[in-house]
Amino acid sequence: MSDLLARDLIRDVPDFPKPGILFKDITPVLEEPEAFRQVCRLLAEDARARGADVIVGIESRGFLFGVPIALDLNLPFAMARKLGKLPYDRISEEYALEYGTNTVEMHVDALQPGQKAYIVDDLLATGGTAAAASRLVKRLGGVVVGFGCLIELSFLNGRATLPDVPIKALMEF
Ligand code: 5GP
Repeated sequence: MSDLLARDLIRDVPDFPKPGILFKDITPVLEEPEAFRQVCRLLAEDARARGADVIVGIESRGFLFGVPIALDLNLPFAMARKLGKLPYDRISEEYALEYGTNTVEMHVDALQPGQKAYIVDDLLATGGTAAAASRLVKRLGGVVVGFGCLIELSFLNGRATLPDVPIKALMEF
């Protein structure tokens, strides 16, 4: 959509976090309430259309957008956190990085069986993170009804890792 205020606010940062990576920095969007509100509203509309009854945010930038969406829709918010951050009983899913692995975790009672989860993050790249969050939701008995993000790096084809999940990306690069 052409009137997406956040589009002109995404900042390209070369060589972060390592040489050769062009990082899409979303922090300027947080500094513009109109643009911030607009991206949250658009993703909330998608989550509502998908019939979500819980919003799952992926640490940490997924929290920034997932929490306002959950509050807007009056839905519970569940955290998918990085390894070792959650205090209570939890399940884990590992995913591959270029070098090594990462792990995301959720509390065992973060979702109720049968709940329809809409997963939120800031950006979809290879899809490894989103796919791991999706596996957590399924292991807890939830159904992933959608994944919403601000940015999709479409050349990395992350969608292929979530073949059964409707994906809403507000911007593509
Ligand atoms: P993936 O697992 O799809 O390869 O990577 C997506 C995850 O890494 C997301 O949690 C996202 O926050 C982070 N990420 C990877 N590249 C970027 C980037 O260029 N910009 C931002 N903001 N996040 C990124």
